[in-house]
Amino acid sequence: VTTRPAISAWSFSRLEVFEKCPYQAKLSFADKIEQAMDPGREEALNRGTRIHKEAELFVKGEGPLTSGLARYQKHLEEAAEHYQKGLALVEDEMAFTTDWEGTSWFSDEAWLRVKIDRVDFQDSDRLVAKLVDYKTGKKDGNEVKHSQQGQLYTLAGFCRYPELQTLTYEFVYLDHNIPTTRKTYTRDQAMKFHAWFHERGMRMTTATEFPPKPSRITCKFCPYGPSRGNGFCEFGVEE
Ligand code: SF4
Repeated sequence: VTTRPAISAWSFSRLEVFEKCPYQAKLSFADKIEQAMDPGREEALNRGTRIHKEAELFVKGEGPLTSGLARYQKHLEEAAEHYQKGLALVEDEMAFTTDWEGTSWFSDEAWLRVKIDRVDFQDSDRLVAKLVDYKTGKKDGNEVKHSQQGQLYTLAGFCRYPELQTLTYEFVYLDHNIPTTRKTYTRDQAMKFHAWFHERGMRMTTATEFPPKPSRITCKFCPYGPSRGNGFCEFGVEE
């Protein structure tokens, strides 16, 4: 039995894993057991990484508008103009201590890590901004997850940029002809999420026990599960 916290830092995706199955989180983030990846998932992840990189390069004026970005040509061209004016940041890596103070990404004190695809400030006074996250893959069924992710990102944005007063998060679904998901928060509204996320992050980073929570759905997609994983977990249930 582990007696001290095994996982020292969290992110939105880590929290998702931990809340679904603490044992999977331990295998993955503490023990760092090699994961099996089914070919479909691996392809989707690689494609997502590539398209994110293409968008980053295009906005910085360092790459072409590739076919994967074509649906959002206008949006990305506007972003590139904004970037040229010095009002946008791409791949903004935000790391925070347990007091939600900013720190460097690789610092030993980094407790929460949030990576934002793009931050667009309205003006140089930095009072109003937009956080943009590019999504590849499906939107349906991910609404609750994406809305929580947006709330955490917004909270992180306000902590990182103390002068900000209004912040909008925007999810751009690069694979779909559907409107982007967008929500705007004032600083006071976003700070209401603070206690909720703090508690969840703390629960994960102070945990000393990681019970398995087998379920057909969770185990089906688990890299240590019996169906599409490597079977490392002895508690996994079949589809
Ligand atoms: S196979 Fe199931 S019980 Fe085992 S770690 Fe994965 S999700 Fe948890």
